[in-house]
Amino acid sequence: MNARSAWIEEFWRIVVLIGIAWAVGAVFDQVVPLLLAVLLVYTFHNLFNLQRLSNWLGSPDVDNIPIHFGLWGGIYSQIARITARQSQREQRLKNMLNEYASSTSALPDAAVALDSGGRIRWFNDAASRLLGLQTAKDIGQPLLNLFRSPEIALLLKQHDYSSSLQTTAPGRPERRLEVRITPYGEGQILLLARDISERLQQERVRKDFVANVSHELRTPLTVVSGFVENLQADESLSDQRLKRPLALMAQQTARMRQIVEDLLLLARLESDSTADQQQVDMVEMLQLVADEAAAIAEDAPAVELESDSMRRVLGDPKQLRSAVTNLVVNAVHHTPADGTITLRWFDRNGSAVLEIADTGEGIAAEHIARLTERFYRVDAGRSRERGGTGLGLAIVKHVLNRHDARLEIESELGVGSCFRVTFPPSRLVD
Ligand code: ADP
Repeated sequence: MNARSAWIEEFWRIVVLIGIAWAVGAVFDQVVPLLLAVLLVYTFHNLFNLQRLSNWLGSPDVDNIPIHFGLWGGIYSQIARITARQSQREQRLKNMLNEYASSTSALPDAAVALDSGGRIRWFNDAASRLLGLQTAKDIGQPLLNLFRSPEIALLLKQHDYSSSLQTTAPGRPERRLEVRITPYGEGQILLLARDISERLQQERVRKDFVANVSHELRTPLTVVSGFVENLQADESLSDQRLKRPLALMAQQTARMRQIVEDLLLLARLESDSTADQQQVDMVEMLQLVADEAAAIAEDAPAVELESDSMRRVLGDPKQLRSAVTNLVVNAVHHTPADGTITLRWFDRNGSAVLEIADTGEGIAAEHIARLTERFYRVDAGRSRERGGTGLGLAIVKHVLNRHDARLEIESELGVGSCFRVTFPPSRLVD
């Protein structure tokens, strides 16, 4: 029976009851007392049902409804339907939460939920393993009390959500962790930590391999190029048929030696991430590099120097010089004789900026992000022809990283390129 017909039936029940009371009352001339008595009984009956409902609502048992018919039966079955739907929803939520909890537990990365005060609200199994957190006891404790790390403290204080940091696992110095934070909910933070010891080990093996191969090739190459030079100098071998192959052999061995030297330099730069802290006079250095650049080729473009800053850079003079020379030589190679190369040294927002801008051929946008990769060249054939190894910009990037400097490349095909190096205030002296 639906709710509407139950109400109609109840209405008619009242009408019939009043009708009977009226009729019987009229016979005995007691209409008012009888009507009152019937209404009183009806009210008590409903009060009794209301109390039963209130008791039942204390712990509703949908399989055990006290009344199945009439108005009260309808109310009970409606409540029973809502309760059943709610418990189904609760069950579904419970299942979802269980699935979520077991999937985050299965994560190989540590996840720790922190409140706005940096206290631990929740963490997964990997967090116990990697960060040494213990269930129950550590919930509610400030993370930094358990895991003293100035880097992580800074990350949390600065709300730096874009970068990650590397640190050692608490109590396990051989284990390296990569930690990043991400905001969620209202002022809450999720801290994620990943064990990167294996990846770092693999990278080390790869770097050592390249360095070892380069080192092993050095001696045989020196021997071969020595013999080639001797053969070229030998008057008795002046036969024209030998001249060209010998010249080619000399050229190729020189190229191979250059590649080996560049790879060894890269390996050295990678193995030690800190640079010297000497004061480097950039204006003086740029002047020397500009003079050298003009002498690279007869048809070298004009090189101009604009220095608006006198600040010195704290760093390794040799490395900085080689990086700047690399950038300027590249500009010379890619700019026509009637073009211009401008070296600018100026201050900007507390930092100092070095720009090497040319009006040369430019670089298509799709190559720019990859230029600092080892052996990446826009035109490999042309680069080889002029003795390029494709390692120049990779070396530049490493040198600049060691000086905490940032390299940006802007370029437009047919218009020119600008290589911009920004040194932070911590690397500058007035
Ligand atoms: P390479 O030995 O080929 O010069 P680099 O690593 O120094 O190697 O440079 C990588 C590539 O970047 C070059 O092959 C060249 O295509 C491109 N490039 C570098 N500087 C410039 C520039 N100023 N103008 C145009 N292209 C450039």
